[in-house]
Amino acid sequence: MEATTDKRLPFLGRLKHDSVADCIGATPLVRLNHLPTALGLKAQVFAKLEYLNPGGSVKDRIAKRMLEKAEEGGKVKPGGTLIEASSGNTGIAIALLAAIKGYKCIITLSEKMSLEKEQILNALGAKVIRTPAGVSIDSPDSIISVAKRLHEEIPNSFILNQYANPDNPAAHEYGTAEELWYQTEGHIDAFISAAGTGGTVTGTGRGLRKHNKDILIIGVDPLGSILALPDELNGPKAEFKIEGIGYDFVPEVLDQHGPDLWIKTSDADSFNYARRLVREEGILCGGSSGATIAALVQLVKSRPELNVEDKLIVVILADSLRNYLTKFANDEWMVEQGYSV
Ligand code: PMP
Repeated sequence: MEATTDKRLPFLGRLKHDSVADCIGATPLVRLNHLPTALGLKAQVFAKLEYLNPGGSVKDRIAKRMLEKAEEGGKVKPGGTLIEASSGNTGIAIALLAAIKGYKCIITLSEKMSLEKEQILNALGAKVIRTPAGVSIDSPDSIISVAKRLHEEIPNSFILNQYANPDNPAAHEYGTAEELWYQTEGHIDAFISAAGTGGTVTGTGRGLRKHNKDILIIGVDPLGSILALPDELNGPKAEFKIEGIGYDFVPEVLDQHGPDLWIKTSDADSFNYARRLVREEGILCGGSSGATIAALVQLVKSRPELNVEDKLIVVILADSLRNYLTKFANDEWMVEQGYSV
């Protein structure tokens, strides 16, 4: 028999899994070989490929932990309905677990979010309630208000509530951060993550700092959102096209003081860099992944000491191109929106 050439084999551990829920996490960390060089970067840049989670995003991690803890606490009962307000990815992650475990699932999703996300939710058997785009979070029509109302109306329903649930950042503190420490063998100088609920940047930052308090933690926030500190960085509230990151309120799980540095990014740069990650690295990522590269470019300008060969910077690539086939992946959409291709 021919010996395997798969160098990952010794690390696979268990070869069989009981369900796709067991395949969440332990995502690859992959060197970016072309884009950083093309951008004049000397530091080593590694990408954590969260889109390779079974549901296609980083949010599988938090959905799994939040649901397991709620089950352990007896808060979620067999046959119950899981309701969640989401920009899509947490919804998909919860719907996937609901499909495996036999819960019903309702996701409130703003009209801003892509059709692809709704289609995946539907395929997983979840019910999608669209809410108007651009309404403030305390409006009765917001994703959160509608989810709360449904919870009051539907017996045996439960909201895991990613915005306030400590198991959201904990999934990253005990999961993502430990993986990164292991995968980099402790050689990691900076960590860049875009923020939606802020669970990823808060939890991973916390976990990495337990190992080495000098690792630079960078939060990324789109222009028009208000999550960055100092507040002057944010400028006026405005709408932005990028999905899954940025809000008009500060979620409870986000520790705004967690990152050493916040960087603001534009839609145009984010989409452009996401497209380049696809084209130049073969990495089929979503728009917020491009935002981490836009932030990386700004970071090395302001901190040239990081832009040397022995520095290692990790970016989180949160979701997949699959979610945006009719949006930034599409040349016509880009041109219609006024972006160059
Ligand atoms: N990118 C995308 C595409 C997302 O959907 C999310 C989660 N909403 C994030 C980044 C940010 O993750 P977090 O909620 O942990 O800040």
